[in-house]
Amino acid sequence: MKTVFQKIIDGELPCDKVFENERIIAFKDIAPHAPVHILIVPKKAIQDISHATQEDAPLLAEILFIANALAKQFHIQDGFRLLTNNGVDAGQSIFHLHFHLLGGRKLGALG
Ligand code: 5GP
Repeated sequence: MKTVFQKIIDGELPCDKVFENERIIAFKDIAPHAPVHILIVPKKAIQDISHATQEDAPLLAEILFIANALAKQFHIQDGFRLLTNNGVDAGQSIFHLHFHLLGGRKLGALG
């Protein structure tokens, strides 16, 4: 069964898209935890970061640079958090790799 993010990638579900190229899509989180809360999602169906392989290294690096560009675009470059939840115990709910870009307010400690 397709994940929600696969349906978004395939154009079957709408999203508030802020970036897209052949490899990566980024869109606003539907239930934001901060004034800026963007999800950066590789189109390749990788379950989570622990399932990424060496061949995914360029894709993962590209995601970091896209996060930087989006942080600038949304004026949070001086204070943002980029995180990925790996597994149920970490709070992952959609099992297609994605990175949360958060900012626009003072972010508390992780935990
Ligand atoms: P996770 O908990 O897996 O790390 O993050 C999943 C995120 O996806 C959550 O922050 C949740 O709000 C967001 N989300 C779930 N369904 C949708 C959706 O249909 N559209 C968008 N834009 N975000 C979604």
